[in-house]
Amino acid sequence: MKPPLVVANWKMHGTRVEAQNLARQIFNGVKDQWNVEVVLAPPFTALATVADELRGSGLRLAAQNVHWKEEGAFTGEISPKMLRETGCTFVLIGHSERRHLFDENDQMVAKKMLALLRADLWPILCVGETLQERKKGMTRRVISRQLTAALKGVSKDAIENINVAYEPVWAIGTGHTATPDQASDAHRWIRDVMNRLFGTTKTMQIRILYGGSVRPENAAELARASEVNGLLVGGASLKAEEFLRIISQFA
Ligand code: PEP
Repeated sequence: MKPPLVVANWKMHGTRVEAQNLARQIFNGVKDQWNVEVVLAPPFTALATVADELRGSGLRLAAQNVHWKEEGAFTGEISPKMLRETGCTFVLIGHSERRHLFDENDQMVAKKMLALLRADLWPILCVGETLQERKKGMTRRVISRQLTAALKGVSKDAIENINVAYEPVWAIGTGHTATPDQASDAHRWIRDVMNRLFGTTKTMQIRILYGGSVRPENAAELARASEVNGLLVGGASLKAEEFLRIISQFA
């Protein structure tokens, strides 16, 4: 199994100088913890700066979004090739803020998935249900739909480069975290769905992260929950000290 993966999603926060300082503090703090793979996802404008800061370290760079075309008349968009050139290894796709605030649908996420794999970038596919869907007992159905749609056309050989983040929409930025049991149940279901689609040998290497109001106070129990192979952290990743305490739960 690959090492646990802990990803910082800085969303639309930070100038280049702020991102550089934060990346430096995190880099200095994780120096002795190479058993965890740490990834930073700054805003587009800070990618190159953070890439410079992380050069020669074991930390990796991620983008928060991507367009599926290589180039063209797509004002405001960024292509996989551009992200690779900037030093990205990972890219988030299907984040609930993209789905709900910017109307991204399963088909768009699927196109992004294939474009990333073509460009040798490693997707972090976010899936998760809204509170209403959970209350109606639709959690599994929603996750299956999102996974099946996003993985359509992905070859068995490419599947091990994919990471999945289970991020219940009701937990993102709300202070309401899933319990370890809720996270484990959803993660087991995600693995079942992928096993059915690709076979157990191919999906063994896929890491399933939990995301949604992860804080230093709840990170330990989430990190220990069965089937949790890492964490995707928003708000708490903007403070180096908090993010480092979260990472240390996997040490
Ligand atoms: C996220 O942005 O993916 C996230 C989980 O945010 P937060 O940790 O702030 O809930």
